[in-house]
Amino acid sequence: MRLSRFFMPILKENPKEAEIVSHRLMLRTGMVRQQSAGIYTWLPLGKRVLDKVNAIIREEQNRSGAIELLMPTLQSAELWQESGRYDAYGKEMLRIKDRQDRPMLYGPTNEEMITDIFRSYVKSYRNLPLNLYHIQLKFRDEIRPRFGTMRSREFLMKDAYSFDLDRAGAEHAYNKMFAAYLRTFDRMGLRAIPMRADTGPIGGNLSHEFIILADTGESEVFCHKDFLGFDIPGEDTNFDDVAGLKTIFDKWTSRYAATSEMHDEAAFGAIAEGERLSARGIEVGHIFYFGTKYSEAMGAKVLGPDGKEHTVHMGSYGIGPTRLVPAIIEASHDDNGIIWPKGIAPFDVVVINMKTGDEACDAACGKVYSDLGKAGFDVLLDDTDERAGGKFATADLIGVPVQVIVGPRSIANGEVEVKDRKTGARETMTVEAAINKLV
Ligand code: ATP
Ligand code: MG
Ligand code: MG
Ligand code: MG
Repeated sequence: MRLSRFFMPILKENPKEAEIVSHRLMLRTGMVRQQSAGIYTWLPLGKRVLDKVNAIIREEQNRSGAIELLMPTLQSAELWQESGRYDAYGKEMLRIKDRQDRPMLYGPTNEEMITDIFRSYVKSYRNLPLNLYHIQLKFRDEIRPRFGTMRSREFLMKDAYSFDLDRAGAEHAYNKMFAAYLRTFDRMGLRAIPMRADTGPIGGNLSHEFIILADTGESEVFCHKDFLGFDIPGEDTNFDDVAGLKTIFDKWTSRYAATSEMHDEAAFGAIAEGERLSARGIEVGHIFYFGTKYSEAMGAKVLGPDGKEHTVHMGSYGIGPTRLVPAIIEASHDDNGIIWPKGIAPFDVVVINMKTGDEACDAACGKVYSDLGKAGFDVLLDDTDERAGGKFATADLIGVPVQVIVGPRSIANGEVEVKDRKTGARETMTVEAAINKLV
């Protein structure tokens, strides 16, 4: 991408409405724009990051055996009347009437709809286990939307729903998502800690929130320091291995970790003082096992191997991609701007032309840009007329991991500078060496 042809509306001034660093940086870099309270446009730079986050989520959901579909945002109220949640959900639900005066709603979550899909097609235990997920917009009319896309009213959620014949099957489904979540957040450079959580309006009795520790987090959390060092399940994790996944779950639930709603001061106090962590955190994911709550109310049953009808056991599993983007920024930035982890960055490399219009600089930039592009990198070429200082500041601000700096003096010797955004380390090398280093 040539910056001169891209749409990246960088703000010169710090936006006053932003209270936390991620919100400030997302506005400054032109990643998002608020359209009305808690409702955002993802501008091109932000959209690239959001797509990367979604790609990682998708890969890890698919690896665990979950299957993607896409349900609509608008739902008919009827399904929610069946489950009993239409009245219970309260003011967070945006209720709408269509022209026939039929009650509709903008989905805050999809348990009812997926249960309806399931019961329409699946009649036998032979089609189980099944886990269906989508990445779709939700709407919740939050009392206090704030911190940009961290707590918005319209937001993206990856929500998965599992169906099993019995509790044991459902626990394995839960453990699959548990392991997939550990991998997902780790790939984004985040340490997410699964904490015992309240099940809230979803209902049920087994639930974990995945929490990133951050001073600006809205949750108050308490946990053992050991979580900071636990191993993440590998790429070769066998998701069909019931005992293997149980071992991962047992390990990651072997120490105290709870949000304030579930906090047990006595149990926490029993941990040696130096091992205790009492902090603030951001909820980036939440998983639930809720048994037959919806399948019972909505008649989702299958024939079992015994020839009898069984009400299926369900779980639901959410991740907030539009919250993860600011959470990653909260975890990874400095005074100059964002520092994107590799798999998340909007571009892999930014090539900075210090003197656009200079023949040697333009030629070298063109070569680095096209060679890296051919090698499969997403490259941003700063070919604008801005001063070199301004270009450096922009590159740091938007947080692309590697900068290749092409200036008239060094290019006269056939050399460019390669700068690591995170460490600030710079190295001078030939254009070829720079390309080889990156490829
Ligand atoms: P919170 O406690 O922050 O209100 P929640 O517990 O209501 O979140 P869940 O119903 O568990 O949210 O939804 C699953 C995931 O969706 C959350 O873990 C979070 O990552 C994301 N999410 C929920 N509400 C919002 C929101 N208003 N803005 C952005 N992401 C959200
Ligand atoms: Mg909420
Ligand atoms: Mg919550
Ligand atoms: Mg939650």
